[in-house]
Amino acid sequence: MAHAFVLSDDSILCRQMPDGWWPLQVQLSPDSNDLSEQAYQVGHVTLHESLAPNHWLSDDSTGNDADDMVDANMAHSFTAQATSAMTYDYAVAHNVTLPIIAESSGNTFVPYRKLMTHLPVALSDQISQAIQLLSWQADTQFCSRCASPTVHASQGERAMVCPVCRLRQYPRVQPCVITAITRPNPVTGEMQILLAHHHRHGQQNLPPMYGLIAGFVEVGESLEHAVVREVAEEVNISVSDIRYVSSQPWPFPSNLMLGFRASYASGDIILQEDELAHADFFDLSNLPRIPPKGSIARDLIDQVAKEQNIDL
Ligand SMILES: [Zn+2]
Repeated sequence: MAHAFVLSDDSILCRQMPDGWWPLQVQLSPDSNDLSEQAYQVGHVTLHESLAPNHWLSDDSTGNDADDMVDANMAHSFTAQATSAMTYDYAVAHNVTLPIIAESSGNTFVPYRKLMTHLPVALSDQISQAIQLLSWQADTQFCSRCASPTVHASQGERAMVCPVCRLRQYPRVQPCVITAITRPNPVTGEMQILLAHHHRHGQQNLPPMYGLIAGFVEVGESLEHAVVREVAEEVNISVSDIRYVSSQPWPFPSNLMLGFRASYASGDIILQEDELAHADFFDLSNLPRIPPKGSIARDLIDQVAKEQNIDL
């Protein structure tokens, strides 16, 4: 039986569970078997099978409250069945049966940013994929070269094709480097990490959030070059020993965050003031407020801390 996630922009239909909100998957009715043929209509996308998550919440109990606790207990052991994602508008237009959607019903749309801190990585990545593909579809309904309406490429290829000039528009990923820069404290020798507070992260009533230096890769630039350039631009220092660690898709709008480590080499911190409000090397034993678990920034900071036997 085919299942689908239901999205509304950057939010996904979820159910309230004892351990938080979980993405809900609606069952596609047997008589909508032709949905596979409709899979390339705008508002409905098939998802990569290779990313099938190990954990998800079944919606087979929709409308059956007695089963909800069973689902809650099984939420961490379910095997994925999701094969597609659709927009709420698409679901309504195609008469897909949806549960009652309201905070009080336990089913509501939750922003992806709030979910990614507690969802299993595989599921989080699949939601990320769904957000990006639906938005790519919506943004490529016309040829960007000659403005003709586009059509979907034939089976097996994810592309929007212009029937007039043959331009093919594929989903695009924007690479973005993010770097954890470390050095020993010049006085005490304790390991330190460079953290920066962005103007845009200013939130009232909370201490300022500090993150890592990050930025987009320019055309014609290697990833290592991008690390060196971004660090120089934002805080004016030089780094050495640049090494790749891991990556994370980030669907705002379609970034791939590439996480690096680097060592401080030379230079004094001078802020790029239109971007940063403050930046400094912090002792790992005395960090300011940092990004939540689930983000690649936090993963990199945690990795550095763990090497110093510090559990953040
Ligand atoms: Zn064209």
